[in-house]
Amino acid sequence: MNILPKLLFLFQMIPIIGKDDCFKKWKTDLTKFIWQGKKPRIKHKLLTGIKERGGFGLPDLRLYYDVACFTWIKDWIKLDNSDILDLEEWNNRYGCIITKLKKNISKMYNLLLEWELKDEKVKEVMIKWACDIGYVIRLEQWEKLWKDIKFTACYTIRENFMKMVYQWYLTPVKFAKIYKLKSNTCWRCKKEIGTMFHMWWECRPIKQFWNEIYEELKKMFKISFSKKPEAFLLGLITNDIPENQRKVFHYAITAARMLIAKNWKGRKIPSVKDWQIKFCEYINLARLTAYIREQSDQKLLKEWGCAKEYMKNIVLE
Ligand SMILES: [Zn+2]
Repeated sequence: MNILPKLLFLFQMIPIIGKDDCFKKWKTDLTKFIWQGKKPRIKHKLLTGIKERGGFGLPDLRLYYDVACFTWIKDWIKLDNSDILDLEEWNNRYGCIITKLKKNISKMYNLLLEWELKDEKVKEVMIKWACDIGYVIRLEQWEKLWKDIKFTACYTIRENFMKMVYQWYLTPVKFAKIYKLKSNTCWRCKKEIGTMFHMWWECRPIKQFWNEIYEELKKMFKISFSKKPEAFLLGLITNDIPENQRKVFHYAITAARMLIAKNWKGRKIPSVKDWQIKFCEYINLARLTAYIREQSDQKLLKEWGCAKEYMKNIVLE
């Protein structure tokens, strides 16, 4: 955040000589830094997507440079500032288009980025998820999900969510492919092929764990709802969970996913008690998020009343 304004200042002041090589090198350096020298698990292009569309908001420096040049062109066309270079006999017909793009670098950047990523609207991972669960998740559902992720201010929780969406975790299948291993069977049951969906949902002991969490959630919310993988793994909640309980649901399923991720390569399966302890920690995180966002105690109580009631009868050691 601190570096981008400094670069933008440079972009607007000096031409970058041999810019293709320069931007290529910066991209390589950034990738090395982000992935700590390891093989990238998410395409650079997807990292640059805006957060509201499921991207990571990584600045595309090349695009920012283009925008910085573009702001000059705008000034030349409008010719409001007589101190700058005059474009003689310039036909001002493009003026109206450029005027719409007020001199606001981020607005222009977002527009160019949208064009740049128009082919990535339906991401590869969205198709992968549809193949795994056996039916299509509509684009509107994904778009709602990008908004829902703001339920917490905690970055560890958001990170877990993004890792799930982008299928970031290394599965036995991926391991076998990378290291050319003979076996790609699941580390836990040692029977089935260790695909992403198997490791997170279909593996017998994990399925049992999700069943237990499902039963606990029904007790907590005092309602009956369908147990769908997209709800538990991605937080794509259907209408059978009331609006004011969705935040608690997000925290509850993230707590479960965090426990599975913690024992990713081991055979240990988390217990309901482990989940309750984690969930209790998240209640405190939710309180902090509400405090940062200046939410009223009343709203917090309304959202978390059911969780408080549920936790009252539980003894945590
Ligand atoms: Zn298994």
